[in-house]
Amino acid sequence: MSAPEPTRSGLPASPGIAIGPAYVLRRERMVIPERRIEADEVDGEAERLEAAFATTRGQLDEIRAGIEGTGLVGDVFDAQFLFLEDPTLREHSAQNVRVLGLNAEWALQRELRRVQALFEGVADAYMRERAADVGHVVRRVQQVLMGREPEGLSNAPPGCVVVAEELGPGDVAQVTREQVAGFVTETGSRTSHVAIMARSLGIPAVVGAGSGLVAQIDDGEEVVIDGRSGRVYVGPDGATVERYREQARLLIDTERELLRYVHLPAESRDGVRMTMLANIESVEEIGDALRFGAEGVGLFRTEYLYMNRADLPSEEEQFDVYRKVLEACAPHDVVIRTLDLGGDKVPTGLALAEEENPALGLRGIRMYQDRPAVFHTQLRALLRASSAGRLKVLIPMVSTLGEFQFARDTLEQLAAELRAAGHVVSDDIPLGAMVETPAAAVMADLLAPRTDFLSIGTNDLLQYTLAVDRTNQQVAYLYEPFHPAHLRMVQQICQAGRRAGITVGMCGEMAGDPANLWILLALGVGELSMAPFSIPLIKKILRDSTAGEARELLATVLRLDSAEEIRERVEERMRARFPVELAYHAGEG
Ligand code: PEP
Ligand code: MG
Repeated sequence: MSAPEPTRSGLPASPGIAIGPAYVLRRERMVIPERRIEADEVDGEAERLEAAFATTRGQLDEIRAGIEGTGLVGDVFDAQFLFLEDPTLREHSAQNVRVLGLNAEWALQRELRRVQALFEGVADAYMRERAADVGHVVRRVQQVLMGREPEGLSNAPPGCVVVAEELGPGDVAQVTREQVAGFVTETGSRTSHVAIMARSLGIPAVVGAGSGLVAQIDDGEEVVIDGRSGRVYVGPDGATVERYREQARLLIDTERELLRYVHLPAESRDGVRMTMLANIESVEEIGDALRFGAEGVGLFRTEYLYMNRADLPSEEEQFDVYRKVLEACAPHDVVIRTLDLGGDKVPTGLALAEEENPALGLRGIRMYQDRPAVFHTQLRALLRASSAGRLKVLIPMVSTLGEFQFARDTLEQLAAELRAAGHVVSDDIPLGAMVETPAAAVMADLLAPRTDFLSIGTNDLLQYTLAVDRTNQQVAYLYEPFHPAHLRMVQQICQAGRRAGITVGMCGEMAGDPANLWILLALGVGELSMAPFSIPLIKKILRDSTAGEARELLATVLRLDSAEEIRERVEERMRARFPVELAYHAGEG
C-alpha cells in the first residue's frame, strides 16, 4: 500500500519519525516603541540598552549551562550568540541612542534593519540563516527591554512536535530528546541551525515546510513528521498514524543496529575495502561526520566561505577554517575542494559578468585564470594550513589537461614562495581533479597519470553527459545515474585510475544511495564520500555483501541497454538482499 498524500512537503533536515501533539510556537508580534528622547535622557537610555544586553547574556549563560556535555549543540549555540558579543551591534545601537536621540528599543531595531539589509544583498540560503541569527538575538534583547518573559520551548509538553515559523539555537538548546519528539518549521534549509542542532541531538526535523503552517495547526493536534523524506501530516487518519508508528519502531531498531557499524571497517565479506568519507560544507559538520564513522572528509565544499558575505574571505580567515578542519579530522585525510564559484553561485564580492548559460560558463577552475588573486589567496591559506593535518587539494570543473597543469604549477610556485618566507608547508599535498565533465571522463586515461587522485562528481558529470540541467524539475526523470552512458564513463574513469595506480573516489550524490553500492563496488570506486548520516547504512550493506555478487550484478546490467532496465534490475536485486535497509533509506511508509 502506498503512503497517503502528506499535508505538506518540506526539506528533510534530521532523519527519523516523530508522532505527537503539536506544540505551536506562536511568537507574539512585538510592536517596538519608537520615541525621540531628550538630551538629559541619553545616558539613561544608553545604560538601559547596555543593561538589557547584559541581562540577555545572563539568560543565555543559564541555557548554555543546561546544555548537556559540550560538542556541536554547544558550539552552534555559542556561534549564534557571538552576535551578542559583537561590539558593532551594541556600539551602533548605542550610537543611535546618543547621536540620533532614539529610545533604546528603536535604536536597536534600526541597527537590526541595517544588518539585515546587508545580508539581504546576497541571495544565499546560508546567508539568510545568519540574518535570522541576528534577528533571534535582537528579539531576546528587545524582550528584556520591554520587560517581557523570554519566550521559548521550556514549557513544551513531553513528546510534542514543535511547530514554528522558525527556530533559533536558543530555542533548540533548551530542549532534550525526551521532551521534544520533533521539529517542523515553515522556513529554513539544511544549513539552518535548527537542522544542524536537531541532527546533533538526534531529534527528527523537517524545515522549509512553507508559510501558513503555524496558522494551520492547533495546539495539541496530532502531527506526524518524517525527517528522511520531509513529509508532514497534520491530523492524519488512524491508518497513517499506525503505519508511521510501525515505521518508527523499524527505524529505531535499524538505527540501533546501524550504530554498531560506525567503528567497524568498511569491508565486504570477501575482504574488499572501501573508504567511507563525509561531504561537508562547514566546520560545524565535522562532529557529525566523525560521529557517524567517517574515515575523513572526501569533499569540503568551500563555496560557502565566499557566499555568506559582501566581501571576499581573507587569507587569514580561510587559514583558520582549513586549519580547524584539518586538526579536527587528523589523522584522517581531508579533501578540500578549491572554490567552485561562477555559474549559478556568484558571490557579491566577486562581481562576475552575467552569463547566458552559467553552467557552461566561467565555473570552477576556469574562473581562476580570470581571477588569479582569488585562487592564490585560497591556495596560500590551504598551504599554510597544510601542516595541521592531512590535506588533499581537489580542483573542480577540469576539462583540459592544461587547466590541471596550471593548478599544479600555481600550487608549487606558491608553496615555494611561502617556504622562502619562512612558513611551514607540508611536502606531501596530493592534488586531485574532479571528474565532472565528459571531457575529463573520456580522457581519464590521460588525466589520471598527471594527478594524485580523481574524484567523480556525478552531480555535474550526469548533467553534462545527459544534457539534463540538474536543477530542472521538468527533465528530472532523465537525470539517471544508471544511464548506460554515465555508467560506462564511471567504469572508464575507474579503469584509468587503476592503470595509473591512483585512488578514484566519488563525491556526487550517487555515492550515498545504498541501492548503488554494489555497482560502485564492482566498478572499483575506492572511496565514497557522502552526507555523514548515510555512512553507517552504506557500511552495513557493504559488510553484508561480497564483491563477487556485486560483480555478477554489474556484468548483468552492463549488458542492458536502458537506464530503466538497469535501475529495475539493480533495485530488484538490492531490495531482495536488503529490504529493511532500502526501505529505511527511502523513508517508505
Ligand atoms: C558533483 O558535481 O558531483 C559535485 C560533488 O560537486 P557539486 O555538487 O558541488 O557541483
Ligand atoms: Mg560539481
